[in-house]
Amino acid sequence: MLVLGIESTAHTASVGIVDERAAVRALASDMYKPPAGGIHPREAANHHVDWLPELVDRALREAQVAPGEIGAVAFAQGPGLGPCLRAGATVARALSLAWNLPLVPVNHCVAHIEIARVLSGLDDPLLLYASGGNTQVIAYARGRYRVLGETIDIGVGNFLDKLWIGLGGAFPGGPAIEAAARQGKVIHPLPYSVHGMDVAFSGLLTASLALHHQGVPTEDLAYSVETTAYSMLTEVTERALAHHKRSAVVLGGGVACNLRLQAMVRTMVEARGGTMYAPPRRLCVDNGAMIAWTGLMALPFGGAVPIEASTVQPRQRTDLVPSPWRGPSVG
Ligand code: AMP
Ligand code: MG
Repeated sequence: MLVLGIESTAHTASVGIVDERAAVRALASDMYKPPAGGIHPREAANHHVDWLPELVDRALREAQVAPGEIGAVAFAQGPGLGPCLRAGATVARALSLAWNLPLVPVNHCVAHIEIARVLSGLDDPLLLYASGGNTQVIAYARGRYRVLGETIDIGVGNFLDKLWIGLGGAFPGGPAIEAAARQGKVIHPLPYSVHGMDVAFSGLLTASLALHHQGVPTEDLAYSVETTAYSMLTEVTERALAHHKRSAVVLGGGVACNLRLQAMVRTMVEARGGTMYAPPRRLCVDNGAMIAWTGLMALPFGGAVPIEASTVQPRQRTDLVPSPWRGPSVG
């Protein structure tokens, strides 16, 4: 069976088509880029409304399939920005009605872990989910994915974007900071904010901007910021691994594309005798294929819902949605 999945939680509009073996038969995406400053939910939603029909067409052409060959339509129900989620959900409902197909709501964070899990072949990994709006360490236990640790203020990507914009740059900040950090030489001390398995970034943002105003070169600042922020993420991931007796880690989210973060987590995991896996960039960032794949797994477990029950859930917590396809777990 083929499932078409729609992603629209934040700035990325994306349509993916996957089959039962998790082969990505098509993936068509377009990212809303704010002209200045951060993401404006309404403008991002307008972008998605404009793009999604074209992306659906593109995906069908790329997969070389007709609508009649699709078995279900999945969409990201949450968490995310309300207007953006509604754009994707509306397109999904329209396709489900027009093509007479089951409609499957999917939790966006669960989709990140499920695509990484199937690509890696790892059975029960922990997910370090590091994106613009989300920063969480997640593992499966007793019927659902549980958030073991998370940011208590802003997402790590959001922190990098805000910092870069504060330094006079443009969104997205993460890749620009990564490039600058490669030229950095000096590590300046910055607030290191780990609370058990939780992290915080707003103090780090204030202190980083203060260093900038004191004249610290951008390259050294970027190097210091990456060292501090990614050490924090590596530490909480290690603590979660130790407490929850896991050995494998998969990565997800835009910030997880960062090579330095990947290297730090890999070093930590391998020192513990475990395995680390990061999906290729197009499946690590927000994408419709992960939504399609998770929808495909949920479908035989009563995953389809009537239109009336397909309301978007901007604050949907990972630990609120059951993941029955994972089966029993002792964890
Ligand atoms: P997402 O929210 O998963 O769509 O990812 C977007 C976020 O990832 C933005 O905050 C970007 O700044 C960040 N990002 C993308 N590429 C990188 C990178 N190479 N290093 C660090 N952050 C990145
Ligand atoms: Mg994401």
